[in-house]
Amino acid sequence: MERVAIIGCGAYMDSGYGCPGEWRCLKAAALGEGNFDSPCQVVAFIKCECPGRPLISNLGMAMKLSEIKPDKIYFSSCLAGSTPGCPYLSPGELASLVQKATGIEVVLGTHDYH
Ligand code: SF4
Repeated sequence: MERVAIIGCGAYMDSGYGCPGEWRCLKAAALGEGNFDSPCQVVAFIKCECPGRPLISNLGMAMKLSEIKPDKIYFSSCLAGSTPGCPYLSPGELASLVQKATGIEVVLGTHDYH
C-alpha cells in the first residue's frame, strides 16, 4: 500500500469549512477515490501557512520525526484548486519547489467530493 503525505492550504482550512481533513482527503485516500489510484496510508497531514515559507521545513520535519518517507505527496483539493487561489504561488510552482526539495512526486488535488 502506498504511503502518502497530504498538504492542505491553512488559509482555507482556517476559514471554517470543516478542514483539515474532516473526512474528504482522508476518505479519498482510504478508499482510493479521487486522485488516489488505490487505498493509501496517510503518514502525514501538513498545513501550509501563509505565505508558505515554513512548508518545506515542516514537511521535512514530519518525514524525519516519523521516519517515514512518503511515496507521494498530495496537495489537498483546497490547495490545488480553490478559488480564489493562493496569492503567493500557483499550485504548480509550489509543487515544483516541494518536488525539488524532497525528490518526491507531487499530485495536485485529492478528491472530488462536495
Ligand atoms: S501560502 Fe497559499 S497555499 Fe499556503 S496557506 Fe497561504 S494561501 Fe494557502
